[in-house]
Amino acid sequence: MKILVASDIAPDAITLLQEHFDVDVRTDLSEEELVAAIPGYDALVVRSKPRVPRSVIEASSLSIIARAGVGLDNIDLAACKERGIEVVNSPAALSESVAELVFAMLLSFERKIVRADNAMKEGLWLKKELKGTEICNKTLGIIGFGRIGSHMAKIAAGFGMRVIAYDVHWNEDLAKGYDVEFWDLDLLYREADYLSLHVPLLPSTKGMISKRELGMMKKDAVLINTSRGGIVDEEALYNALSAGTIRGACLDVFEHEPPEDSPLLHLDNIIATPHIGASTREAQDKAGVIIAEQLIAWAQKNRPV
Ligand code: NAD
Repeated sequence: MKILVASDIAPDAITLLQEHFDVDVRTDLSEEELVAAIPGYDALVVRSKPRVPRSVIEASSLSIIARAGVGLDNIDLAACKERGIEVVNSPAALSESVAELVFAMLLSFERKIVRADNAMKEGLWLKKELKGTEICNKTLGIIGFGRIGSHMAKIAAGFGMRVIAYDVHWNEDLAKGYDVEFWDLDLLYREADYLSLHVPLLPSTKGMISKRELGMMKKDAVLINTSRGGIVDEEALYNALSAGTIRGACLDVFEHEPPEDSPLLHLDNIIATPHIGASTREAQDKAGVIIAEQLIAWAQKNRPV
């Protein structure tokens, strides 16, 4: 099998691919260059860039496209389907990084780390003004108890938090091995001190957190969204944060990215990061290796008899 690796992936992943396949690594191709280069390859490996539009797919004789990471937005999936090209990704690589970012944001929010750091660098010693809040003994509500949501529960246990969760596909096996109570969604909104979202963006989850849900939350609650921007109605969130309906929000994802003129970014009671949930060395390395393993398994399954 001949593979074109068109994005930077972990050196270990390249080595693994080279042990099994004929591999070319060309990470500087423009879209036009990719169209010209793609004939003759059986498999293509990319991250969120380059784009793999219909023009690339139609110029190719690819059997499989592997995306090291999660989002498939850069790949024309309809064109892949028409041509019978399989598309694989590696969502499992990112769970720990995203869950760790949630706690990094939460602790920064509660201990006012960003403000403390900025003040120190301005020569200010705001010891009295920077009184924080503990997360120990608080209730963490998790919506979406999949890979990331369940890892959240493990970390939360270490912080001495009580964890309540909701998942649309809840069954008893999901809770096995975790100290978690499964709750009805509306009750969970009312009970959580911190509400963390870990559902995919689907028609059923778009705008899932809106005026009604924010209105049910405790006045002291903090919302954390590291899943996808469209899941939270940003106008409703802005209104809730401005009016003090809830105490704060930690946001890694936005409806439009970057959210250039979002009024949310002018509020003092939010912490914002530029969609960096999966941006760790470890997550990126794991994503590459998982993809290499998937390609090896795929080739073994599909080899001519
Ligand atoms: P997953 O598929 O393992 O888990 C998602 C869970 O949500 C599933 O258990 C599913 O049953 C549940 N679910 C689906 N619809 C629901 C609904 N309406 N109500 C309640 N639960 C529902 O996914 P994951 O790997 O845990 O990732 C979760 C999301 O995190 C991804 O879809 C992605 O949008 C986001 N993500 C963000 C980053 C980042 O950089 N911030 C990185 C990776 C993933």
